[in-house]
Amino acid sequence: SAKGRNRQKYQFYSTSMGKKSELRLIQESSLRTALQKKEFVLHYQPQVKCEDGSLSGVEALVRWQPEGGKLRYPNDFITLAEETGLIIELGSQVLDMACAQAKKWSDLGNPIRVSVNLSAKQFQTEELITTVKKTIERYHLDPSLIELEVTESMTMENSSRSSWMITSLRELGVSISIDDFGTGYSSLSYLKDFSINQIKIDKSFIDELTHNVKSDQITSAIIAMSKQLKLHVIAEGVETIEQAQFLSDKGCDSIQGYFFSKPVTSEQIESTYLAVGQSLA
Ligand code: C2E
Ligand code: MG
Ligand code: MG
Ligand code: MG
Repeated sequence: SAKGRNRQKYQFYSTSMGKKSELRLIQESSLRTALQKKEFVLHYQPQVKCEDGSLSGVEALVRWQPEGGKLRYPNDFITLAEETGLIIELGSQVLDMACAQAKKWSDLGNPIRVSVNLSAKQFQTEELITTVKKTIERYHLDPSLIELEVTESMTMENSSRSSWMITSLRELGVSISIDDFGTGYSSLSYLKDFSINQIKIDKSFIDELTHNVKSDQITSAIIAMSKQLKLHVIAEGVETIEQAQFLSDKGCDSIQGYFFSKPVTSEQIESTYLAVGQSLA
């Protein structure tokens, strides 16, 4: 009967929903356990000056190393961390590891600036300011060695609040970079209102450089605008020598991408950059 079919349908639906939330609960609890067990590590991707190929900094990118398991990448767990609120704890652990590492390199006599990605949830709470302040103090770290990456979309919801957040963070001595520039709901007004230090041109523009006239023009325009505004400008996702050459010719300050290096462990950064004993700050 129709009634019977409906009941069956309903049962199917409720079972699959139950499975879904069950899976989610398992994932959430494994993420929670991973945070307790401190299973997260940072990899670092070099950022290189176009001018002379020297290191201008590194971006810290979080990875999850489950005990005895395969390394897991952010796309696999950041969304869940955000949805469950666990991103706040993950974010503080990331910041702690980044500051500890920056301090270590600084003590070795080769200070390297470390960029840390923030999530929207972190940026929404004032607790972020205290966390950043305390973490820097914990390591007696020169705050100029820390850069925070925020995205345009994170700053859109409440621009006067965002402006206040950015100013408060800048007052701690850290610098601010706008990540994935050009992909958010870019109202350019925040370039006027917010005291940021750097623009990071999104990979989607870089991907098509020298193959798409519009990408070439937009990228050139972003670089020119950054210069006018006296902002540092960096390109992400640079994979080919043609892209690197184009960016360098247009006066882009720095580049980051597989062309130069994939994200690597702190040990690999040390063996590549610290062994030679040159100053990298
Ligand atoms: P993002 O901040 O825009 O980071 C750039 C991503 O592109 C990284 O992926 C990096 O490994 C990758 N990448 C760099 N150069 C190239 C290249 O030349 N070609 C290609 N195809 N990819 C390149 P990853 O590490 O998987 O991170 C993905 C995203 O996850 C990041 O995008 C960032 O939004 C987020 N994320 C990473 N670490 C953290 C973190 O500690 N906290 C938060 N909240 N988010 C993080
Ligand atoms: Mg980033
Ligand atoms: Mg990015
Ligand atoms: Mg991007």
